[in-house]
Amino acid sequence: MQPFDYVKPTSLEEAGELLLKHKGSARPFAGMTDLLIRIERGFVHPELVVDIKDIPGMRDLLVVRNGDLRIGAAVTMNEVAAHSSVQTGWPLLAEGCASVASYQLRNRATVGGNLCNASPAADSAPALLCYEAVAHIFGPEGARKVPLGEFFVGPGKTALQPGELLESVTVPFPKRGSAGHFLKLGRTPMGDISVMNVAVLGWPDKATRSGTSWRIALGSVAPTVIRSPEAERLLSEDTSPDGIEAAARAAAGTARPIDDIRATAAYRTDMVRVLTRRGVERVMAEIGK
Ligand SMILES: Cc1cc2nc3c(=O)[nH]c(=O)nc-3n(C[C@H](O)[C@H](O)[C@H](O)COP(=O)(O)OP(=O)(O)OC[C@H]3O[C@@H](n4cnc5c(N)ncnc54)[C@H](O)[C@@H]3O)c2cc1C
Repeated sequence: MQPFDYVKPTSLEEAGELLLKHKGSARPFAGMTDLLIRIERGFVHPELVVDIKDIPGMRDLLVVRNGDLRIGAAVTMNEVAAHSSVQTGWPLLAEGCASVASYQLRNRATVGGNLCNASPAADSAPALLCYEAVAHIFGPEGARKVPLGEFFVGPGKTALQPGELLESVTVPFPKRGSAGHFLKLGRTPMGDISVMNVAVLGWPDKATRSGTSWRIALGSVAPTVIRSPEAERLLSEDTSPDGIEAAARAAAGTARPIDDIRATAAYRTDMVRVLTRRGVERVMAEIGK
């Protein structure tokens, strides 16, 4: 493996200056569970790696005054999945984070790294898309916010510009009475990257024809994690068994998967239909109580 230097800055400004000074040859990291493999395989060749874990705020996981959840970029998957406020307020996110790899890996793997790696199979991303999370970015031009739906621009590509760091993600408090589920299909029951996954969030809403509103996000079936607006619209109209099946088919229609070593595109598309239907049925059973 190509050697590299290691530095652990203690402020955002210091980290930003290092990234800017070393331009393309420096990489920020948190858990290193993705980056180390990419370095080892020769996909990236950083001369300097910038450990962000000692930067104040990066390890914070808290509910802020307006009720939003704030996840610092270096908070681990296990910390999110085990947090009592996340389990009660944002259960869909707790499920997504708990589904990543193994317990040991989740002790290092972070939500920030999962998002910045920008894999279409990132298991924290569908829940965060459903909750309409916002990425907080720090860089040479100062701080800026990007809705997570605009953060992913392609496989392995984000809206981050040179010298910029993901500082945190804020997740709005879900609508009253909401329920959510994350359904993941892997090649093994535990510890595998998603063949595909679906996140389903629903809540009672008197303003819609079905009396409910929905968000559906799909992973590993397009160049980025995506929402399915047509499935969401159909469910706001009709949540009868036929309505749910129509929405599940619409979600499958949104998918643009590829054949790869994990599954064929056709299998992934059909599994979007199946898991969307299951997810909506489970959420309906909870919000209908
Ligand atoms: C065996 C194994 C199994 C896995 N299984 C799963 C799985 O089931 N589901 C899943 O989603 N993932 C899985 N992964 C992938 C990986 O563990 C996750 O994506 C993890 O969340 C990455 O977090 P990290 O902190 O280790 O990221 P790092 O490796 O530290 O960083 C990942 C990328 O993001 C960049 N980066 C990190 N932090 C920042 C920041 N604050 N600002 C800007 N850029 C940043 C880095 O430069 C790098 O390009 C698996 C990996 C392995 C090795």
